[in-house]
Amino acid sequence: MVKICCIGAGYVGGPTMAVIALKCPEIEVAVVDISVSRITAWNSERLPIYEPGLDDVVKPCRGKNLFFSTDVEKHVSEADIVFVSVNTPTKTQGLGAGKAADLTYWESAARMIADVSKSDKIVVEKSTVPVKTAEAIEKILTHNSKGINFQILSNPEFLAEGTAIQDLFNPDRVLIGGRETPEGAKAIQTLKDVYAHWVPLERILCANLWSAELSKLAANAFLAQRISSVNAMSALCEATGADVSQVSHSIGTDSRIGPKFLNASVGFGGSCFQKDILNLVYICECNGLPEVANYWKQVIKVNDYQKSRFVNRVVSSMFNTVSGKKIAILGFAFKKDTGDTRETPAIDVCKGLLGDKARLSIYDPQVTEDQIRRDLSMKKFDWDHPVHLQPNSPTAIKQVSVVWDSYEAVKDAHGICILTEWDEFKKLDYEKIYQNMQKPAFVFDGRNIVNADKLRQIGFIVYSIGKPLDP
Ligand code: NAD
Repeated sequence: MVKICCIGAGYVGGPTMAVIALKCPEIEVAVVDISVSRITAWNSERLPIYEPGLDDVVKPCRGKNLFFSTDVEKHVSEADIVFVSVNTPTKTQGLGAGKAADLTYWESAARMIADVSKSDKIVVEKSTVPVKTAEAIEKILTHNSKGINFQILSNPEFLAEGTAIQDLFNPDRVLIGGRETPEGAKAIQTLKDVYAHWVPLERILCANLWSAELSKLAANAFLAQRISSVNAMSALCEATGADVSQVSHSIGTDSRIGPKFLNASVGFGGSCFQKDILNLVYICECNGLPEVANYWKQVIKVNDYQKSRFVNRVVSSMFNTVSGKKIAILGFAFKKDTGDTRETPAIDVCKGLLGDKARLSIYDPQVTEDQIRRDLSMKKFDWDHPVHLQPNSPTAIKQVSVVWDSYEAVKDAHGICILTEWDEFKKLDYEKIYQNMQKPAFVFDGRNIVNADKLRQIGFIVYSIGKPLDP
């Protein structure tokens, strides 16, 4: 029986391993983590992350061939295949601060694998890592063990939060990179056999290690670039009277461009896009390619610009000040169907409004008050000038209330900012909301999900991204 262990029970490790366990009943899968609270939650009724369909995958396998444990060393030593799915955030200090990936967690995982291994292992990079990481990992593993053969594979994860289970069940592709040696080919085949339980063979792509590592950074950079491209167009639309939805539709019907990922919004967020582009920028700089680095940097700059443009629009529309005015924030997660707030545009928008002394009433169906308060009090890292900026003052955070219902959030508000595209915000009773708001009542739709014409008929003043302004 093949045994798999995954180090890191996060947004990637948990769902990915649960799907392997479900699809491969003869494989024993252990997901291990140093975080006791995460593992306790994985073993409880309330899983540590919100992801549609996750319960239905985890619960039938848990305790049968899927185990969540903090006994990291035991499960790693027993495994034939060790996935490493630890976090790889942006470095906050030292060489490369603000851009380079922080590989501390990866390095300590690799040292531990070397320490506890008594048999040959395939070590799989599931985390997103800089190109050439496998070379560093190989060094750590071989210099810290004796007589054990480690084959390193790169198997980056392309799932998107909110649709993780769907993406894992039916991936566009599974990418496996390995050494171009007989041992490397054998390791690739072993991992291919796992995925072949449910992924059609033509969707399992094999590549050399460096191509696989770089492909993940490239994929995220291309996806984020599309969002920044359409958001840049949205600014021009607002300046000229064009409508970004019509422009997106027109260009998306060109089969060379395609229709996906062309929605204008308040900006992209999530733990990956910014981090991975920064990482790419750093790698380009280290390889003497400053012009290429600048090209990718621009994707992040446009994203930052889009968020500040939104804040400016809110303030300028509300007679150039939001001081003392109540603004309802609908949605705080970086996208719908997740409770993840890492790098969510809501953080920058809320901080911008608090900077102008607004009072915020925040509601998100999946984000806790603790999480929101933690995010809003966090220092902002300026990657162009790697020093920590001042956090919001404690008084500013007092201007925030977190509520558990949209109607509560909007009561007596002067304006509403929709920052996450949760379906429930499309179905609200806006007539009732209008009655309970200060007048004039504003809606700033950062996701273009409400019917602006209908809201205008009710009496709202509506701003949608990249659309002609309120007549
Ligand atoms: P996460 O922070 O949710 O999970 C990482 C887990 O690793 C944490 O629970 C942490 O406690 C654990 N960990 C760290 N060091 C450890 C160690 N030495 N031993 C045991 N456990 C350890 O992160 P995530 O969102 O799951 O992302 C993991 C990786 O996958 C990152 O590189 C990320 O870029 C990449 N990725 C993320 C997504 C996504 O949508 N979140 C998608 C594709 C790829």
